[in-house]
This record gives sequence, C-alpha cells and structure tokens, in this order.
Amino acid sequence: MIEISSEMTAKLIATAHEMQKYSYIPYVEFAVGAALLTADDEIYTGCNIQNAALSPNICAERTAFFKAVSEGKTKFKAIAIVGGPDREIGDFCFPCGVCRQVMVEYCDPDSFIIITANDKGEVKTVTLSELLPYSFGPENL
Ligand code: ZN
Repeated sequence: MIEISSEMTAKLIATAHEMQKYSYIPYVEFAVGAALLTADDEIYTGCNIQNAALSPNICAERTAFFKAVSEGKTKFKAIAIVGGPDREIGDFCFPCGVCRQVMVEYCDPDSFIIITANDKGEVKTVTLSELLPYSFGPENL
C-alpha cells in the first residue's frame, strides 16, 4: 500500500468536501465530492451529477477519474470521497460498484487507496482490493 501522509489525507478530504457544493442534485438531496490524487501528485476533483432520466447520473468518483483520464492521467495513488445531505459530510461514503470497476481499470488494486471520512472527523482508509476482491480488470484480457 502506498503511504499517503496525514497532511495529504486531510487535504484530499477537505478538497472532496469543497466539491460537494458543486454537486448537481435536484432529485435526491445527497451531495458527494471526490478528490483524486495522481501518481505525480496532482489532484483532480469531481462531484455527483444527477439527471432527470436517472441512468445518465454520474458519481463524483467517476467524474474525477474521467476528468483526469481525459487530460492524459492514467496513474493514481488515492481518492478521497465524502458525501451527505445538505452538502455536508455525513456518514462514511464508499464508492459504488460501478466506480470500483472504473478504479480497477487504472489502479493497482493492492496499492490504490480509498479514503472516506464521516461527520465526526473519523477517517477510514482501505485499498481497492479490499473493496473489490477478485476483480476483473485489464490483466484478465
Ligand atoms: Zn459510483
């Protein structure tokens, strides 16, 4: 597992929280923000974006990943994710299954780190392989 300093962890969580204010959430009042750390220590951000037709909804994590990939970044160290009502941090917010699969496309499951925090200031840090064991990724093709 890559070590992420406590300062960087705090910065990623604060950045993810800042992104909650940009969430486009007219249908379900639940704002999610994400801050994705690239291998060269750049941070790409994302928020959740809802849609009236529902299936075009996109999560904050995938927004951050696709922004980064669209600018040529494909190596990543960590992502911080926070979510909750009222554009504030609520309970721990782990990525959905679709986002976990997107992460496997670009990240080493044993070293990529997912960070989430709750409204009590508690932080949980897990590897992608802990969230998505026995995954199907590029190495399977
Ligand atoms: Zn998701």
